[in-house]
Amino acid sequence: MQAAELAKTAIRTQLFIQGRWCDAEQGATFPVYDPATGAEIAQVAAGTEQDIDRAVQAARQALQSDAWRRMTPAARERLILRLADLLETHGDEIAALETLNQGKLLPWSQAIEVGGSAQWLRYMAGWATKIEGSSFDLSLAFPPGVRYRASTLRVPAGVVGAIVPWNFPLAMAIWKIAPALACGCTVVLKPAEETPLTALRLAELAHEAGFPPGVLNVVTGDGPHAGAALARHPGVDKITFTGSTEVGRMIGAQCGHDIRRATLELGGKSPVIIMDDMDVAQAVQGAAGAIFFNHGQVCTAGSRLYVARPLYDAVLAGLADIADGTVLGSGFDPGAQMGPMVSARHRARVLGFVDDAIREGGDIVAGGDADDSNGFFVRPTIIANPGGKPLTLLREEVFGPVLTAMPFDDFDEVLRQANDSSYGLGASIWTNRLDSAQHAIDTLQAGTVWVNSHNMVDPNMPFGGFKQSGLGREHGRSAIDAYTELKSVCIAY
Ligand code: NAP
Ligand code: MG
Repeated sequence: MQAAELAKTAIRTQLFIQGRWCDAEQGATFPVYDPATGAEIAQVAAGTEQDIDRAVQAARQALQSDAWRRMTPAARERLILRLADLLETHGDEIAALETLNQGKLLPWSQAIEVGGSAQWLRYMAGWATKIEGSSFDLSLAFPPGVRYRASTLRVPAGVVGAIVPWNFPLAMAIWKIAPALACGCTVVLKPAEETPLTALRLAELAHEAGFPPGVLNVVTGDGPHAGAALARHPGVDKITFTGSTEVGRMIGAQCGHDIRRATLELGGKSPVIIMDDMDVAQAVQGAAGAIFFNHGQVCTAGSRLYVARPLYDAVLAGLADIADGTVLGSGFDPGAQMGPMVSARHRARVLGFVDDAIREGGDIVAGGDADDSNGFFVRPTIIANPGGKPLTLLREEVFGPVLTAMPFDDFDEVLRQANDSSYGLGASIWTNRLDSAQHAIDTLQAGTVWVNSHNMVDPNMPFGGFKQSGLGREHGRSAIDAYTELKSVCIAY
């Protein structure tokens, strides 16, 4: 079967609550599209507050059920491993479904959405049996003769509300679900309205893997209705969100008001700094990958490029060659090198930023336009800003294949410019000089600093933002901390 046909066999369109498919209570649906053609591919249940309420109740019941609460960590580990296996068994169909709905190139859906998700599940499965506390000696002297021992336990955070974006639909969901399940939490997942399909198929596979009903629920719908209802639901103990800083701020304010735990992974405007000792070809490849990967729809996309002046012209020329030569097309087309933006609305937003840059004095070196097909394509775009004008592009997250490039003369000054952002998610420095790399590592205000690489993530490496790029960290031990509460136990004897 052709991949696009295979994808259609995996489409599910109802909500998944308490181990069962159901329509939204109000019966409404919304369309989802193939961004490569603009064609509607399905009508999906539009969940609202009532559906979120049902899902949260199901998650609460599951949390309190013996089937989940008394399950041993080793049994939880086995279930998560089984889900990883099922994801791979159905990998062709799920990767195709992601490409159909999100637009990314099929090999990337296979490698990241399926392969990466399976990797994250397996890594987090291992944590289920390794969650631990500490023990402490206390110095309490009262009442006389009584001694004390204290220790800490990590207990599940409880019902987790997960709200995820459309750039890596399945992988972002797994980044949250895998540690939550490893810690013994239950989950209500709200995928992005643009890309709900792989999350629904995942819920079905989790059921098949043997997770008790209600442990993983998926409510599709839009942010203002389903997402906001989840973020304010009193039955949710913890919200975990990836998306824009604007929405993250609202969710954070709600959680602050309710004193609900929250992990927020928000936007970025990540700098890429190329030092003058770098090989030009390596610098060009690195900078191109940093911005054009996943069509620029990456929270750590390297969208501000600072090049040491002696290399500036050569690096810019190399990047323009790559941008001009990029073949746009459907993610199913093996000849395509870049797919579409996720939606017509997002394409308009990205092109709006390009228009602003032209008005503000940026020079278009490559791209800058859409494509005349029906799909939501934007040509890879490079804007030179040799005079360092204060372009809107340097402040706002575009989330598209749009790079702004600037030369620099002074290392400390470029580090200052790199840090001159409300964001602090990622940053990269490209050099073979240890002192330069170390100085940048020490100085850059970013949750991840890459040296001679960019956008690299691993389940064992903490990920998250400084400043307005977020609160908390995902992955590794940090994720276990994020999905557990710490309980101190004090015993007198
Ligand atoms: P977004 O609005 O922040 O959406 C992220 C998630 O939050 C989606 O599931 C969305 O639902 C939901 N949401 C929206 N409004 C909500 C609300 N009031 N309460 C609770 N949940 C809500 O991002 P977007 O609209 O998809 O994209 C806008 C821009 O955000 C992008 O251009 C990009 O700059 C940035 N972004 C950043 C990331 C990242 O990884 N840091 C990811 C995505 C987008 P619906 O989409 O279904 O309405
Ligand atoms: Mg949205």
